[in-house]
Amino acid sequence: MTVEVDRERCAGTGGCVFAAPGVFDQNPEDGRVVVLDPEPGPALRDEVREAAEVCPVQAIRLSA
Ligand code: SF4
Repeated sequence: MTVEVDRERCAGTGGCVFAAPGVFDQNPEDGRVVVLDPEPGPALRDEVREAAEVCPVQAIRLSA
């Protein structure tokens, strides 16, 4: 799985960080999403999907 984010679109809600803290973080300066692990393994798949689902602005894009 590959994770891409649109930092311009990100609203800084932190939902993705809460759902998948090993994969997402927030930049301390602007609060926008930072991807810690752009290719998370199978064990993280469910939480990464959850992160994408809770994002209110659809800033997270996943590909297989
Ligand atoms: S859930 Fe979406 S809007 Fe919120 S911090 Fe993550 S990418 Fe940004």
